[in-house]
Parts: sequence; structure tokens; C-alpha cells
Amino acid sequence: MNEVYLDYNASAPLDPRVAETMLAVFSDGVGNASSSHTFGRRLAAIVEEAREHVASLVGAPTNRVIFTAGATEANNLALRGAAENQLGKRSEGFEFRKTYAPTESTPPKAARRKRSRILVSAVEHASVKQTAGALAAQGLIQLEEIPVHPSGSVNLEALDGMLAEYGEKVLLISVMAANSETGVLNPSAEISQRAHKVGALFHCDATQHAGRLPFDMIGLGVDLLSLSSHKICGPGGVGALVGTPPALSRLSPVIHGGGQESGLRSGSLNVPGIVGFGEAAKIAAVEREQESVHVATLRNRLVSQLEAHLAGVSLNGDASNRLPNTANLRFAGADAEAVLVNMHPVAASVGSACSAGSIEPSTVLTAMGLSSQAAYESVRFSLGRFTTEAEIDQAAGQIIKAVNFVREMREMPA
Ligand code: PMP
Repeated sequence: MNEVYLDYNASAPLDPRVAETMLAVFSDGVGNASSSHTFGRRLAAIVEEAREHVASLVGAPTNRVIFTAGATEANNLALRGAAENQLGKRSEGFEFRKTYAPTESTPPKAARRKRSRILVSAVEHASVKQTAGALAAQGLIQLEEIPVHPSGSVNLEALDGMLAEYGEKVLLISVMAANSETGVLNPSAEISQRAHKVGALFHCDATQHAGRLPFDMIGLGVDLLSLSSHKICGPGGVGALVGTPPALSRLSPVIHGGGQESGLRSGSLNVPGIVGFGEAAKIAAVEREQESVHVATLRNRLVSQLEAHLAGVSLNGDASNRLPNTANLRFAGADAEAVLVNMHPVAASVGSACSAGSIEPSTVLTAMGLSSQAAYESVRFSLGRFTTEAEIDQAAGQIIKAVNFVREMREMPA
């Protein structure tokens, strides 16, 4: 039986075209992109080309892309960078490139210091939640959680209430574009309008959204945007924080050193990774539309087959407002971990997090109002560029067998 990979939201396979461009850099890319000699300049030029592809994927000008080691780091830079900056923390000798000099729209430092609250949605990725939690534990900010509707998208009325209460004390609002577990989309334009009314920054983690659906960062009014290469068939370990100049000027670096990436992310650049990310972004921009139809068709085929052959299947999250590649399904009466083990060699995932030896139910699903038991019975299927119809048909058969087996085992007397 063939392996079937239905876990693209965890990490998508490397596109062979991306691998090819990276191999060329691995074999010929001598030097350090920061060096001023020919070797360095050659690498700097290909980095700039990649920067253009990444920027254009999200509708941003090229000089706004800060390459990082992934979306986790980009999220840390956005939140910690903003919190430390408004407290006046800057590294010695830190200097923004001219384009990032504070502009008139940047509030004066004294006013910025008054901004002590960060609001994050209840369904953010751990790299946002844990960073905000760590900042709060250090006394740098006060953290508030924005609830979500049972559909999975952020509750704007609740956000309005928080903004009415905290107003200009709000430093930053962080709400992801699309949720990794359910694929549910959030109303980025509405959130940015609300953030800007009180002078707060709007940070949006678009790790799962970019490359799958069109994303126009400027039109949506996003100030800071996190991206990851390995979700769009690029290499792992590389990502970016994309920001408007006024927003970037309100960040302090989290990683200090030689001042690369406009002083916001020091360290010699990972040139093969960045070039691979650029190539993946370029391919996604061209193929995104066609690919979203392909994956939505296959995802719906999978769900229809499961619903036709199994009772007690329900979709978690809003069916009409989500990524085309994702389906988060509850199989009532079947523990999801057991289903995953029994549907081998088909790979999908559960949203539960393993911490200190105990498995916690997915906080995304419980924030949407699901019981712990319902969360424990939910599996995320995420498809992508290389998923085929034959794989879906094979996977459906395996999943049906696994769910039936787990339900039968549960009913057997102990
Ligand atoms: N944000 C979201 C929404 C994600 O899904 C992920 C990856 N699971 C990350 C951030 C972290 O990305 P990376 O692996 O590039 O650090």
C-alpha cells in the first residue's frame, strides 16, 4: 500500500523545481551575501530576486521583506520587537536603513510607552500565543485573548469591546489570516481598520494563507505579516516578516549582531533557503488559482466519501469560509490518535499538543466551543499540490476502516 501524505499544513513537500534552484546555489554559491566582493554581490543579487518574489506574493514592495528562520521567528520578532521597542529598548549601534526611519505616522516615543496591551486571538499558533505569554510573564505587556465564534473566525464584537475598554493602550493586535487546524479565514481588513483607529499595529500570521489564496497586504491594511516557506513547497527553516516602513520602525530586533536585514535580523543569510523560498513564492503566485481548485475538489471528494460510508462525521469550522485544502473532521466515538495510528500509511494530524507527558485537547477547537471529547475525536486533513485522486480514494478507504475499527474496539467489553 502506498503512503499518502495529507498533512500539508504541517509541512508541504519540497517542489522539485525549488530543489533544483537550491542545488545550483549549494554547488555554486560561494561567499557571504553581506560581503562587498564579487562573490558576495552575486549572492546578494539572488537574495534580492527572492525578496521580490516573496513580496509580490503578498502584494508588498520588495524593501519590506525581512528574512527570518521561519514564521515562528517572524512572529517572535513582530510581538517581542514591538513590545521592547515601545519600552525604548534598542540595541547598541542599532540603526534603521533610511527607508525604515520613523515617519510622521509613528507616534512619539512617550505615547508609544503608554501602549501596554497586546490582543491575540484565541486560536493563534503557539509561536504567537507563547511569545505573547512570555512577554506578559516578563511584565513587558498585558495580554488579552480575543474570543472566536463557533465558526472559528474571530469575534469582532468582542474585539470592539476590548478596544473600547483599552483604546490607545493597545500596542498590537495579532490575528492570523487562516487557521492551521481548521483552515478558517479571518476578516483581516475589518481587524486592521479597528487596530488603526486606536493607533495599534495589526500583525497577521499568514503562514497558512499566503500561496493558497490571494493575499493583498496593502489593500487589507496589514502592518506586519508572517510567512513560512515550507508551507508553500519551499524548504524548511526559512520565512519572513513583511512590514510597512512605519510598522518596521516600531520594532526592535530580537536577534542582535551584524545588522543584516535592515538591522532587524542579524546573521549571515541562509542563501539557498532564501532562494528556495523565493522560487516557491514565484511558483505559488502563478499556480495558486489552479491549485486551489484542484485541492478543493479532492478535499470535497474525500469528505463526501467519508460521509457516505461513516455515521457521525462532522466538520469543525465554517465550511464556506476556509482554505481550499483543509478539512477538520470529527469522528464521533473514535479517538483521533487511535484513528491516526490505524489508518497507516495515510498521514494526517490531530491538533492536540503533547505537553509534559499529557495530551491536551486542541485549544483551537475548544476555543470554538467544542468539548474536550469532541476535540480528542477530531482529525485535520490538509492536501496540496501533489495530492492525487487515486491517493484520496485509497486514503478514504483506509480512514473508513480505521474509524470503524476504533469504534468497534471501544464497544468491546474490557
Ligand atoms: N504560524 C502558523 C499559523 C503555522 O501553521 C506555523 C507552522 N505550523 C507557524 C506559524 C510556524 O512556522 P515555522 O515552521 O516556519 O516556524
